[in-house]
Amino acid sequence: MTDAEAQLIEKAGQRLGPKAVITDAREIEPWVTDWRGRVHGATPAMLAPGSTEEVADIVRLAAEHRVPLVPQGGNTGMAAGATPPADGSALLLSMRRMNRIRSISADNRLAVAEAGVILATLHEAVHEAGLRFPLTLGARGSCTIGGLTSTNAGGTQVLKFGTMRALVAGVEAVLPDGSVHNGLSGLKKDNRGYSLDQLLIGAEGTLGVITAVAVRLVPAIAARAVAWVGVDSPARALDLLRYLEARSDSVEGFELVPEECLQLVLKHNSGTRPPLKGSHAWHVLVEATTTKAAIDIGGQMERLLAEALEEGIVGDGVVAASEAQAEALWKLRDSISEAERTEGQTLAHDISVAVADVPKFLVEASAEVERRFPGVIASGFGHLGDGNIHFHVRAAGRAAPDWYDSEGAEITEFVHDLVTAAGGSISAEHGIGQLKRAEFARLAPPGRIHALRAIKQALDPLGIMNPGKLVP
Ligand SMILES: Cc1cc2nc3c(=O)[nH]c(=O)nc-3n(C[C@H](O)[C@H](O)[C@H](O)COP(=O)(O)OP(=O)(O)OC[C@H]3O[C@@H](n4cnc5c(N)ncnc54)[C@H](O)[C@@H]3O)c2cc1C
Repeated sequence: MTDAEAQLIEKAGQRLGPKAVITDAREIEPWVTDWRGRVHGATPAMLAPGSTEEVADIVRLAAEHRVPLVPQGGNTGMAAGATPPADGSALLLSMRRMNRIRSISADNRLAVAEAGVILATLHEAVHEAGLRFPLTLGARGSCTIGGLTSTNAGGTQVLKFGTMRALVAGVEAVLPDGSVHNGLSGLKKDNRGYSLDQLLIGAEGTLGVITAVAVRLVPAIAARAVAWVGVDSPARALDLLRYLEARSDSVEGFELVPEECLQLVLKHNSGTRPPLKGSHAWHVLVEATTTKAAIDIGGQMERLLAEALEEGIVGDGVVAASEAQAEALWKLRDSISEAERTEGQTLAHDISVAVADVPKFLVEASAEVERRFPGVIASGFGHLGDGNIHFHVRAAGRAAPDWYDSEGAEITEFVHDLVTAAGGSISAEHGIGQLKRAEFARLAPPGRIHALRAIKQALDPLGIMNPGKLVP
C-alpha cells in the first residue's frame, strides 16, 4: 500500500466510519476478479459509501491524494471494467450500499433509484405500482442500476424499448472534482447544450461516479406469450421477425439460438428438455407482450406462427402454455454462456452489424474462422433484431491452458477485423472495459479516439476515475 492510499483510507475511515471502509482481504477478495474469472486485480481497500455526500467526500480525497478509484456495482460486467489493476494502485468504490429507491412516480412514469439498487429489486418495486422498467437481462439478480447505466446495457427487450441510453431520463453523479451533477428532474425536453447525463451513460466509470438514476417506466404487462421456433437459417429467422412485426406490434424479444448452443444447454443444464420434436439448424425464442388483459396474446402468437409455418418461413414452433413453460424456454436461452463455460474454453465476442447483414455475417464469419483456425467451433447467438450477436469461438478438443492468450488473441483479432470490415462494432452492449481497450485502440477511427481522450482530459485531468479502462 502506498503512503497516499494509507492516508486516504485513514481519512475516509475518520469521516465516514468503519462501515464505509473495508480493508479485510477476505471481504474484498470476491470483488477483485471479473465475472468471467479472466482478470484478477488487487486493492488495499474497498470503500462503500452510503450516500451521495459520502461519495463526494471520497472523490475529493482521491483527488487530493491522487489515488484512483474503480467504481463497482454488481461486478457482472463482461469487459472487466470494474476490476481494479493487479498492482493495487487503485481503491475499489463499491456502490452496493447506495440501494434505496428514492421515488416511483406513476404520473411522471419515472422512478429514481440509487446506483446500487439491483435490477430485479427495481422490477419488483415498480411492478407493485402497476408499472414496469422494461430492460432485463440474465444478470438481473446481481447487476445494479449504476452499472447498467455506466455500461449502457442492452438485454433482451431492446428491440422495443432500446438500451439504457433510451431508458435513462437523467443521472445524479459525482464528477472527478467532487462536485455533484443533478440531472434527476427527468425533464422530457431540456436543450441546454451538451448532455452530461448522456455523456455519463456508457462512460464505464471513467468520467464520474453515478449515484442515482431517473429511469423511464411503462405500463405493467397484463400477459405475455413466449414461443420457441425452429428455422433452417438465420435469414429465415429474420424473415420471421419482419413477418411478425408486420402483423403485430407486440413483439419485444427475439433471440436467435443455433442448434449447437441448444445441444450444449441440454447437455450441461439439468432439468432442461428439447422444446421441439425433431432437429432444426437454428432456433428463435420470441416474446410478445400486451398491457391489455382483454387481448389473447397467446392465441395471437399461435395464429401467426401457424401462418408462418404455412408460408414455409418456420419449420416448427411451440407457444408456452403457462408461465412455468415460458420460464423454461427463457432458461434455455439464458443458460447458453454457462453451458459453454462448462464445456470448455470459449472466446466471447459481443459484436453488432446492421440487422439485415446478420444472417450473411454469421454464416460467412463462422466458416472463415473455422477455416482459418482448424478445430475450433464458431457460432453466434443473441439479439438478432438489434443486429447484436454474441459470436463465440470454442477451443473444442484443442484447449491448451494458455489458449486464451495464445491462439485466442489471434482469433479475436481475426473476428474483430471481420466485424470492422462489415461496418460493425466490436462492442455492441458490454462496453470496452480493460478487455477490449487494445482492440478498440487498434480499430477505432483516430478522430473517435482523439475526442474520447479530450473529453476524459477535460473532466478528469488528474486521471483518478477508473484509469486503464475504456479510453485508450
Ligand atoms: C449472466 C449475464 C448475462 C448478461 N446479459 C447481458 C445482456 O443481455 N446485455 C448486456 O448489456 N449486458 C449483459 N450482461 C453484462 C452485465 O450484466 C451488464 O454489463 C451490467 O450493466 C453490469 O452491471 P454491474 O452493476 O454488475 O456493473 P459492474 O460490473 O460492477 O461495473 C460495470 C462498469 O460500470 C462501472 N460502474 C459500475 N457502477 C458504477 C457507478 N455507480 N458509477 C460509475 N461507474 C460505475 C464500473 O466501473 C465498470 O466499468 C450480462 C452479465 C451476466 C453475468
